[in-house]
Amino acid sequence: MMDAIGPELNPNAGQEKKLVFTIKEKCRVCFTCVRECPAKAIRIAGGQAEIIPDRCIACGNCIKVCSQGAKVFRKEIDPVRKLIASDEKVIACVAPSFPAEFADIKDYKRLVGMIRSLGFDHVTEVSFGADLVARKYKDHLSLGRQAISSDCPAIVSYIEHYYPDLTSYMAAVVSPMVAMARVVRKVYGKESKVVFIGPCLAKKAESTEIDNAITFRELREMFQESRVSPTAVEPSEFDPPLGGRGAIFPLSHGLLNTMEVTEDILSEKVIVAGGRSNFLDALREFEQGNLKGHHIHLLCCEGCILGPGMSPYPNTAASSLRFAKKARIIAYANQKMAVLDKEEWAKNLGEFEKIDLSRSFTRKDMRISRPNAEEIKEVLYRIGKYSPDDHLNCGTCGYDSCEEHAIAVINGLAETEMCLPYTIERLHTYIRELDTSNEKLASVQEALRHSEKLAGMGQLSAGIAHELNNPLGVITMYSNILKEELPADNPMHKDLDLIVEQADRCRKIVGGLLNFARKNQVNVSDTDVIQLAEHSMSSVIVPSGIDIRFFNKISDPMAMLDYDQMTQVLTNLLKNAIEAMPNGGEITLQISDTEEQVVFKVTDNGSGIEKENMDKLFTPFFTTKGIGKGTGLGLPIIYGIVKMHKGEISVQSNANLTKGPTGTTFTITLPRNRML
Ligand code: ADP
Ligand code: MG
Repeated sequence: MMDAIGPELNPNAGQEKKLVFTIKEKCRVCFTCVRECPAKAIRIAGGQAEIIPDRCIACGNCIKVCSQGAKVFRKEIDPVRKLIASDEKVIACVAPSFPAEFADIKDYKRLVGMIRSLGFDHVTEVSFGADLVARKYKDHLSLGRQAISSDCPAIVSYIEHYYPDLTSYMAAVVSPMVAMARVVRKVYGKESKVVFIGPCLAKKAESTEIDNAITFRELREMFQESRVSPTAVEPSEFDPPLGGRGAIFPLSHGLLNTMEVTEDILSEKVIVAGGRSNFLDALREFEQGNLKGHHIHLLCCEGCILGPGMSPYPNTAASSLRFAKKARIIAYANQKMAVLDKEEWAKNLGEFEKIDLSRSFTRKDMRISRPNAEEIKEVLYRIGKYSPDDHLNCGTCGYDSCEEHAIAVINGLAETEMCLPYTIERLHTYIRELDTSNEKLASVQEALRHSEKLAGMGQLSAGIAHELNNPLGVITMYSNILKEELPADNPMHKDLDLIVEQADRCRKIVGGLLNFARKNQVNVSDTDVIQLAEHSMSSVIVPSGIDIRFFNKISDPMAMLDYDQMTQVLTNLLKNAIEAMPNGGEITLQISDTEEQVVFKVTDNGSGIEKENMDKLFTPFFTTKGIGKGTGLGLPIIYGIVKMHKGEISVQSNANLTKGPTGTTFTITLPRNRML
């Protein structure tokens, strides 16, 4: 590096590192930028893509591929305008790719005029720098050494960051831009300010010898802001020294063509790799030692004419018009060569060849350390990759393989949610779980609706029962008084007996209703459930043809229950079961327990309950039995008693022979120690 031109001349020195940014509101997290970023400098965190400045090589790939326009680069229009407005001498150095950008300006001299009219003191072309650099490279090539060359700042930055061991192979020649900066400072004074205008973002950070670098896009913006149009300016030639063959530099083999090396040297010794995947492959092969004796020349874009600082064409892919652009460069170069004062050019080359065009490289190692196999395996498990078969390596996450994705996760660059197949699988599981919850919800809703209905019934029955209780008491009492007062042989005794009997029956019904409405109290005491079950079984009359079997699976028989009421529950269930088996059958009563609960199960293989009756069972007075046979109060009373014990009752039944054996099971679960 030349001593005279140091960082102190650069107003940008030490300025913020960030060249590329994400506009978070626009980012739709499609991972395309992650995939296209050769440096893996884009971190997905909290569902947002953000650029890590220390890893970014400013290649601008992410800007080119983002369809949402969520990636933008740092603009330097303001500092350039400030420079122009100052007393300093400001020199524009225009990259040789300009004919590819300004197809709309037919005569390049008008473009030069437009740039001048923005206020630049001189407008020069970088192609002269390219001519000088090409000569240096040619010397390098003639040594026949294995080497890497690149005039692309993104490539240099990539190697410094990710292949630091290869910096020793790099041809230590400055880029045409820096060469030109050194030339113009020699010609126009070393205090001159240099502004590069080109297709590239990485140029903004390439060298402290450039005061500012703007893209063609920014130049167009400046034209627009200052209302500079091609027709309104005086056409003029670039300021000397003029470039020659360097005009074809922006094409992918441009440097080599500028060198005028013969085709066989080219095909035999030099490998040119341009574009993201090509340059990555070339570097990998070079490092592995597969390119011994070769000189590799690398470019980040496929030629500078496809740089991210070129204006995008609306509705076309970023790389479109590449052939038209190439043709324009060649046409311009031919036009230049035809009128070039070759003597003057040769003289200039001879003179400026003496400038020191060497440079150095810095190791900026940012390689991602490889976690150990166990760590990788753990992350792979988290994204459902248990065996090599599960590694789809589909690349949707932005990484070439599942393993690379896992490594990025461990290094905090990626998230496991980025794995699309895994996310889809999880989504399916969620849907399944949601379905099950919906089903559960529906059945809970149904149960709720049912219990609301029963609660309503309960209120009504309680009201009626309460009102009836007193008159019934009066009827019974006065009937008994009348009976006592009547002589023993009075025939009305019989009628009074009937009144007392029927009033008694009414009182029982009313009592049942009160039970159902839970208006009665339970008197719990330490109860032996085995004894309770045995007592209940002995209280029902079992017709012949019906067997009752008892299964005792109790480990601790003691529970706090109302003995009388629970006897009523079990006898009612057994009676219903008997009545459901007019042709005989088998009933089982099973009792079991857990630490906190006791469970009673009464099963029969009788007629079963029709589906449409299932939700009416606990409704008072619902009966399928003939008049005088059923009251429809058995199950409502059971329901009331179970609820008073803070327990649950459920029914399973099948009445349809085509669906299997018919029969019914009532299950009652009671807490062992009901908290009153
Ligand atoms: P009831 O026995 O007086 O009819 P319940 O409240 O005890 O009143 O029963 C209501 C109805 O439930 C019965 O009429 C019957 O249709 C049905 N049921 C109850 N238990 C069974 C069972 N084990 N098998 C078949 N149906 C039953
Ligand atoms: Mg009954």
